[in-house]
Amino acid sequence: MQRPGVIIAGGGIAGLTLALALHEAGYAPRVYEAAGQLAELGVGINVLPHAAKEFARLGVLDALVAEGVELERYMWFNRHGQEIWQEPRGRGAGYAWPQVSIHRGALHRVLAEAVRTRLGDAALLLDHQLTGFTQDATSVTAHFASRASGARRDSVRGEVLIGADGIHSALRRCFYPDEGAPRWAGNMMWRMCVELPGPVLGGATMFSAGTGELKVVGYEISAAARRQGRSLFNWIAEVRTGADGAPPPERENWNRAAGIEEFAHYFEDFRFDWLDVPALARASGQAFAFPMVDRDPLPRWTHGRVTLLGDAAHPMWPIGSNGASQAVLDCRALADALVAHDDVQDALTAYEATRLPATAAVVTANRSRAHDEILDLVERRAPQGFSDARAVISAAEIETRLASYKQTAQFDRQRVGSA
Ligand SMILES: Cc1cc2nc3c(=O)[nH]c(=O)nc-3n(C[C@H](O)[C@H](O)[C@H](O)COP(=O)(O)OP(=O)(O)OC[C@H]3O[C@@H](n4cnc5c(N)ncnc54)[C@H](O)[C@@H]3O)c2cc1C
Repeated sequence: MQRPGVIIAGGGIAGLTLALALHEAGYAPRVYEAAGQLAELGVGINVLPHAAKEFARLGVLDALVAEGVELERYMWFNRHGQEIWQEPRGRGAGYAWPQVSIHRGALHRVLAEAVRTRLGDAALLLDHQLTGFTQDATSVTAHFASRASGARRDSVRGEVLIGADGIHSALRRCFYPDEGAPRWAGNMMWRMCVELPGPVLGGATMFSAGTGELKVVGYEISAAARRQGRSLFNWIAEVRTGADGAPPPERENWNRAAGIEEFAHYFEDFRFDWLDVPALARASGQAFAFPMVDRDPLPRWTHGRVTLLGDAAHPMWPIGSNGASQAVLDCRALADALVAHDDVQDALTAYEATRLPATAAVVTANRSRAHDEILDLVERRAPQGFSDARAVISAAEIETRLASYKQTAQFDRQRVGSA
């Protein structure tokens, strides 16, 4: 059977993963990316076990594990550096699939290389910025311009158009022109990557330390650095600098470079016996600043032959490492729906029915800081610290809260699969 022609706008994590999933299902999609070249952008990112399972099916998981670090445990600390809780992660927690911490640029490169190898160079077109589309009963035509020159490019006709064009999605704006800027939570994040002479917390560990107002999150991301006994350490300094729902201080730009003087003074007291945060900031030298934003869930993503995917559909706070992983789940659901339905509009509607409510639940859970809520509970109950963490919060209370978040984000072990 002749598979419909699929046009994917956006060659980020979601667009490239969708291209691989559709190719596996017998399609020949094309990816149109606005950037003029593929650079290894960003800092660290986490692939949760449910997304790792999809990457294994697409034959790229081994390459990701070879580049990144298989996470073994997650730890939570109060703002005095005292341990509240730790739990095993990935295969160490009995999952059949790992949780992988990796540089976003490495993840992106592995996906782009797989797309070019399997679908051919012509399947990934750069400097093609989607500007709009038209559709009729049998087809959709996507319009593009060069981002570099602004010149119009040839329009492209297909049967399906997917908007995988990120947090500032042009396609989403076509459907919701009055939506405005993303919603700011009042927190700024400074994201950094620094090579350290040795591991933090023994390595293969991700941690959150502090409160919802002042927090450090960190994890190592490079297998190559580990082999040399060193650690490529990714970390985020998060500070409440504004009110929840206030207009963001700046437009979200993943690449906005910032000096450490923007945030380091907030963390003067974060000198723990296992990490000296002011010293870490000095060693890092430079950061990327990003306001913590998301958008309200939409009433619908699908309009005829056109739908949204990944951050274009459901940008969310990066609490709980779900941004990329939920995008990967979208790709599996969309590929399966297109295979299952002869009519592409039925397929897109079925995809949306599966994924819109599921991702809206994660957006909402992240807004309540569900993954890290034990930090604020402990701060309220024991602001000066504690001698016994279990006297402040019981194991049962923590486990119940964490299990609930995993179920909401669909990465509980029962659902993903045990080893
Ligand atoms: C440069 C960059 C750096 C990032 N760094 C991090 C990080 O360090 N840690 C982290 O957790 N997350 C990071 N993210 C976000 C993360 O990649 C996403 O949250 C998640 O992976 C979902 O992926 P996505 O493909 O939906 O969105 P994205 O990864 O944002 O990809 C969207 C893609 O669409 C392209 N695009 C935008 N507009 C158009 C258009 N009109 N036409 C065609 N193409 C268009 C963009 O150039 C981009 O390549 C970064 C995103 C970007 C773009």
